[in-house]
Amino acid sequence: MTAEFFHEGELVAVLTAQPIDRFLDYKAPVGGCHLGAFVEVPLGPRKVLGVVWREGAGDYDYAKIRPVIRVLDVAPMRDEMKEFLTRAADYTLTPMSAMLRLATRAPGLGDAPSMRKVYRLGTADPDRMTPARTKVLEVLRDYGGLSFTLGELAEMAGVGTSVVKGLVKQGAVLEEDSPRDMPYGALDADYGGKALSADQAAGAEVLRAALRTDKYGTTLLKGVTGSGKTEVYLEAVAECLRMGRQALVLLPEIALSGEFITRVEARFGMKPAEWHSGVTMTERRRCWRMVGEGAAQMVVGARSALFLPFQNLGLIVVDEEHDTSYKQEDGVLYNARDMAVLRAAINGAQVVLASATPSLESWANVEAGKYQRLVLNSRFGPAVMPEMTAIDMRVEDVPNGKWVSPTLRDGITDRLEKGQQSLIFLNRRGYAPITLCRACGHQIGCDHCDARMVEHRFQNRLMCHQCGETKPMPTVCPHCEVEGKMSPVGPGVERMAEEVTALFPEARVVVLSSDLYGSARAMKAHIEEIAQGGADIIIGTQLVAKGHNFPNLTLVGVIDADLGLQGSDLRAAERTFQLMRQVAGRAGRAEVAGAAMLQTFQPEHPVIRAILAGDEESFWAAEAAERKAAGVPPYGRMAGIILSSTNAQEVFDLGTDMARRDGPLRKIGAQVFGPAPAPIARVRGRHRVRLLVKADKAAPLQQALAEWAGQFRLKGELRMAIDIDPQSFY
Ligand code: ADP
Ligand code: ZN
Repeated sequence: MTAEFFHEGELVAVLTAQPIDRFLDYKAPVGGCHLGAFVEVPLGPRKVLGVVWREGAGDYDYAKIRPVIRVLDVAPMRDEMKEFLTRAADYTLTPMSAMLRLATRAPGLGDAPSMRKVYRLGTADPDRMTPARTKVLEVLRDYGGLSFTLGELAEMAGVGTSVVKGLVKQGAVLEEDSPRDMPYGALDADYGGKALSADQAAGAEVLRAALRTDKYGTTLLKGVTGSGKTEVYLEAVAECLRMGRQALVLLPEIALSGEFITRVEARFGMKPAEWHSGVTMTERRRCWRMVGEGAAQMVVGARSALFLPFQNLGLIVVDEEHDTSYKQEDGVLYNARDMAVLRAAINGAQVVLASATPSLESWANVEAGKYQRLVLNSRFGPAVMPEMTAIDMRVEDVPNGKWVSPTLRDGITDRLEKGQQSLIFLNRRGYAPITLCRACGHQIGCDHCDARMVEHRFQNRLMCHQCGETKPMPTVCPHCEVEGKMSPVGPGVERMAEEVTALFPEARVVVLSSDLYGSARAMKAHIEEIAQGGADIIIGTQLVAKGHNFPNLTLVGVIDADLGLQGSDLRAAERTFQLMRQVAGRAGRAEVAGAAMLQTFQPEHPVIRAILAGDEESFWAAEAAERKAAGVPPYGRMAGIILSSTNAQEVFDLGTDMARRDGPLRKIGAQVFGPAPAPIARVRGRHRVRLLVKADKAAPLQQALAEWAGQFRLKGELRMAIDIDPQSFY
């Protein structure tokens, strides 16, 4: 048993965020320190952040051990967090130091709280009133005794900051110092809340009851887009708040969270804490500290919010649980959905996985009785699921270099006449995926990656979607030097916009693609404007498939429903099924029924047929049977090994050596495939080789992998990444 407190001079083992991968002994400082305390310790000439993990090992000359420099003024790390980090590290084969980095991603954690100026209503009257001054005072009166920063107040009143400053001089507004890390406003579980349909009310009660058990449990909340899943899980959040526990809601496309935050505010009377890359450093620090003190009741965040130091976490909601962005694809390779379940199990918390199109993993866990399932069957209110049809491109008359079929064109014309919106979906950014020389057949590729350059006409450049490198569009072929023969092949959203504008010159056409915005805020504002009716035809990438409401949208046309079915990804069918259903779900959200038209060259393909029929259960059952037979996830286990180096020979040699010396894997009955050049064999100048390991579901895969990989030394430029449960195979 480790002590809970260490007196000055006693030895403590400290985990630091430095890549040294062992615990270091230090002496407890003057005044002692608690187990779990965040501390600053000397490491060579530097001071680094660490956590008092346990008693020191004492296997080193006591006299030479240095003391902890200081204990940071933040809540110590709780035992359950230590357990979570340890088990997550074991599962993902990640060093503990990297896990600690994930858990401390807020700047200036130990610093004394800095102060800032805030403004609230004063008592004096200004010498004279102006319309601008009146507005400022009205805002302050409306919000009772609350205080605001200068920027907030000026923005809310719609005036310049000098107006506020003027009022301060007069004593009509008071300027005060206040610590930056202010607690969040209290959320009121019973503030708002809609009258729920019978379906929704029953679902909410199931979730509330689960929370009241005070135990771990996972519920898959399934319902078509617009069925009110969000309304239902907000009721679970409410129950969690009533119980005095903290709630975390994870969203995949956090840049679009504005709409969600507004809904939370309407439901609970106050905004939640936010944690994602769009949040300022000051706000991050505030969020981290307040979560640790239990002074943030609800956090809305991206996947890394799982690593916040919750004091009493009662509920984790993973919205759009099937979304691939929950898998972190660089640094620590973890799947936030799976880690949410792990964290909840350790904390005795509930998990809600919400989706219209659940992952096969979650579907299988329901079948196996590990998760409970809640289904919301119909859309809320009058909206119904759109009618889905295929457009057989083999019989449509489409000119060369064009992609809109006459059938789809007629559908759009009809919507234009009715004043309704249409969405044209194509999951390809840019103008054209390939730029080809018509004289010699040369395709322009990236200099650093094994990938073609994509033309982006708005920016007037070619871009590599792997590394982001751009170059100007050449007029002369870099290969045969013939002039004026470079031409685009295939469609991207920008090229679709050209075609659609030519077809419907009167219509307002917009392109929605993530690369067209300078900031998440600009993108959000634009989407909002479009949803309000600021366009007749929207051309979009998968950005539009997620979460946003377009109330007046009644037709979705999918340019190439076959796109995702190509390729060797084991989840190709699942992904296509999910994406198509989600995109279709954008149509007919309000009073008007919607239609979805899928252009396809293979209408008889089982996946396309399943999408059209909307027969989910049989799709999942068939998909599950196939995966079971192949022994692949979720019925078997996989790990990807990605080796890379600037030297192609070196990386292949290591791969071959690894495949040969596979003893530790064979011991557990696992198989190694490869080495093979990765589908994208060169990224940023590094050659990439993949191996794939397959094992039984019950096999101790991580242990065997660690033993196996431990046999090889990575010299020089070589890098190895192990990806447990890989989602992407690029
Ligand atoms: P989902 O999360 O399943 O896509 P939402 O919870 O976003 O569904 O609901 C879709 C729309 O219907 C939202 O605009 C929501 O406010 C509205 N809605 C859902 N349930 C109700 C209800 N009981 N009363 C009023 N509006 C509702
Ligand atoms: Zn590149």
